[in-house]
Amino acid sequence: MTEAVMPTYGRFDLAFERGEGVYLYDTEGTAYLDFCGGIAVTSLGHGHPHLVEAIREQAGKLMHTSNLYRIPAQEKLAERLAASTFADLVFFTNSGAEAVECAIKAARRYHYVNGAPERYRIITMEGAFHGRTLATIAAGGQEKHLEGFGPVVDGFDQVPFGDLAALEAAIGPETAGILVEPVQGEGGINAITTEVLEAMRKLADDNGLLLIFDEVQCGVGRTGKLFAYQWSNIEPDIMAAAKGIGGGFPLGACLATESAAKGMTAGTHGSTYGGNPLAATAGNAVLDVVDDPAFLAHVEEMGGYLGQKLGALVARYPEIISGVRGVGLMRGIECKVVNGDLVNALTEQKMLTVGAGGNVVRLLPPLTVTETDIDAAIDALDAACQSLQVAKD
Ligand SMILES: *Cc1c(COP(=O)(O)O)cnc(C)c1O
Repeated sequence: MTEAVMPTYGRFDLAFERGEGVYLYDTEGTAYLDFCGGIAVTSLGHGHPHLVEAIREQAGKLMHTSNLYRIPAQEKLAERLAASTFADLVFFTNSGAEAVECAIKAARRYHYVNGAPERYRIITMEGAFHGRTLATIAAGGQEKHLEGFGPVVDGFDQVPFGDLAALEAAIGPETAGILVEPVQGEGGINAITTEVLEAMRKLADDNGLLLIFDEVQCGVGRTGKLFAYQWSNIEPDIMAAAKGIGGGFPLGACLATESAAKGMTAGTHGSTYGGNPLAATAGNAVLDVVDDPAFLAHVEEMGGYLGQKLGALVARYPEIISGVRGVGLMRGIECKVVNGDLVNALTEQKMLTVGAGGNVVRLLPPLTVTETDIDAAIDALDAACQSLQVAKD
């Protein structure tokens, strides 16, 4: 491995050359079953013909113009996202962290233009992950991400995950909003119940706060709805999306109601690349596939199948794994061994996964996954658990 890349990642000594559907092929031609999905990014799997063709065609026509000019593909993508969600307005970014940054800035600006500039603080949940910029590590509040990067950006207060009483107690005269992942990803696939989400909505309304969802990981079909909040009866004021939205092309979006975005006027925010013709084309191609009731029903069905098979596996290897969490195709396996050991044992079985907080192994397969793919994953998991069981005995 080269030493020219800044060593901020703990990488596997694996390099992939090409991908097809749910499989990745390394430089020696060995196939790996990809249930990591580039961390919930490759929503259509690898080499999806519709996405590839859209990008290929657009790359030959026009990649970038900047936001100094109108971008028809961006306008179309914004209209489609607005039509399929609570939102009226969309700002495009290149990553999840930037989408969350935009959400935080919009919330602060909202109170500023409403004559309450002292309202700038945002309440976040323990175990949260919102990205790696200075503000989003402050929002996430995780010591391992903050250490040595001080001073910490001011304006974030954290409460235990899903604890309504603590949330209510944390609301003060400076509070601007509540920021929450409806299903925590990095934190360990922790889903907030719809009852708690609905109670959060009420707390926000009662106190004049903005409710902000971070659906960077759980959005874009991952749970079987286009966005996870759509399982509940409430809507946020602002929402960040990214990861799966470009299917592998870097793209993020901050969605908001007209009211919540009222401070985001000309000149207040920007991005050179954000939503450029190529990125927006990729986003439209992903939505062509995902924003379809039949496709979302497929995700729900496959998610149910995966959950049921994982449950049976837990019953077979109670000393290795202890439970299954999550919704749809966003699943977490609770481990009794160190989660990294299961990830490694799975890699030995040529299956890719990724760890998460709470000693969990995440399964984030392409949304196009089939029963056959899931059966292959269960076989690999069975063999990996078996090898860990043998090592233990
Ligand atoms: C990955 C993630 C982010 C950050 O996205 P980047 O594209 O890495 O900046 C933010 N929020 C959540 C919930 C995520 O899973």
